Amino acid sequence: MIAANLSAIPAYEEWREAARNMLSIAAAPEDVVWRTQGASDLFACAPTPNLQPTKPLFVSRAFIDLARKAVLHTDPERFALLYRALWRLQRNRELCQDAADADIARLNAMAKAVRRDEHKMHAFVRFKEIETPDGPRFIAWFEPQFHIVDETADFFVRRFAGMRWSIITPEASLHWDGERLSRGPRGVRSDVPPDDARDADWRAYYESMFNPARLKVAAMTREMPKHYWKNLPEAQDISALIRAASSRADDMVAAEPTAPRKRAGAAHAKIAPEDLPERLTPVAEHANAPHSIEDLTRALKACRACPLWKDATQAVPGEGASDHPLLALVGEQPGDQEDLAGHPFIGPAGLVLDRTLEAAGIARREVFITNAVKHFKHEPRGKRRLHKRPDRSEVEMCRWWVKHELDLVQPRLVVALGVTALHSLSAHKGSLSAIRGEALETREGLAMRATIHPSALLRLPDEADKEAEFARFVQDLKDARAAALAG
Ligand code: SF4
Repeated sequence: MIAANLSAIPAYEEWREAARNMLSIAAAPEDVVWRTQGASDLFACAPTPNLQPTKPLFVSRAFIDLARKAVLHTDPERFALLYRALWRLQRNRELCQDAADADIARLNAMAKAVRRDEHKMHAFVRFKEIETPDGPRFIAWFEPQFHIVDETADFFVRRFAGMRWSIITPEASLHWDGERLSRGPRGVRSDVPPDDARDADWRAYYESMFNPARLKVAAMTREMPKHYWKNLPEAQDISALIRAASSRADDMVAAEPTAPRKRAGAAHAKIAPEDLPERLTPVAEHANAPHSIEDLTRALKACRACPLWKDATQAVPGEGASDHPLLALVGEQPGDQEDLAGHPFIGPAGLVLDRTLEAAGIARREVFITNAVKHFKHEPRGKRRLHKRPDRSEVEMCRWWVKHELDLVQPRLVVALGVTALHSLSAHKGSLSAIRGEALETREGLAMRATIHPSALLRLPDEADKEAEFARFVQDLKDARAAALAG
């Protein structure tokens, strides 16, 4: 027997070096004991040799992809299993394509579980705001099932680049100061405050998305496994919602159809743009047209053309496919979470949009997503910041930015999400319902359609209305895609 010694939680690269050593001395899989630091040692072994490979090893791309994920599983047999697969790969280069092979099937199952845990961490980290001597910091507690903390770090840095944040887990912690990522020791649940003003938003979002008539508990717990519930503010309502589901569904069936709620009239300007004081002169007169989205994003950070920048954390630029995409989706303005993170449509309305895009068969990465107004307009309510619709002068002022974004991106079709985007992009000043789904044009002549803003679904109180409106929203996006493809 020969020992391959690893640290307690080895990364792929560490296992790879040890595996190379073993292969270089032709150590058969059954002769190798894989030991991690701190694990009990049942076998007497020769020490690990430290050798350089004498002949090139064959390692396929498929094996590397599989091993990178499987090594993050918690199954203690994973190192031996991976080594046996690598050993066999030297004689059978197509091994990874044989899904029926017992070793490959086990490794695939491990890799799949790890990817799923990563996906759940991306979706289920919930930050709480704390005050520190350096200003606000966002801190989250998360309990992954596997060793994925380092693997997910890049995702959080990209998504929350504009925030100072920490993610604490039972295995390690990640800290981002706006410029640098550092890794710290593990923490405990009590390192993170138990609740936060944003918890109410997550609970309201979940309740609004919970459809008692479509409740399938098994499917729901597959999407949101119970393992994660204890750290999700919205999960505290799940049991009560499930208990009430049957009577709520009966009520839905018994209820008379309800007329759609009348919307308030279109926002009217308190100040007409032409009456704006000089300090609010449209930014267009002061700025040169940007040559790229990157230029525009840089310039946007400095915009002070209207007062909205004062109470916002940052301007939120558009993002996504920026080279002649099929669609550009334009919403109203960033919300609370978008303001903190610096990315559009990542809060509750963003989740509704993701669901709708998925149902319409449109990948989010294939569209450009932005807002008509780039800073978050809000009013304080206790510890919460409540969305406030931008007025006409603010929309007009910010139009310069969205116009240039669309000029640079050149989508085949623009979709205005809600009346604010509609009024910003087009000459139409009436209601959204009058022209919803019709073929329109932006003021600059791009093909355009208009539909609801996804947050409208969050506000509908009636389940039947919500379901019908969701289906209509999906259809609007499908129609927009078809029109873009045909155009
Ligand atoms: S809302 Fe638009 S116009 Fe107003 S400061 Fe922000 S980026 Fe500039």
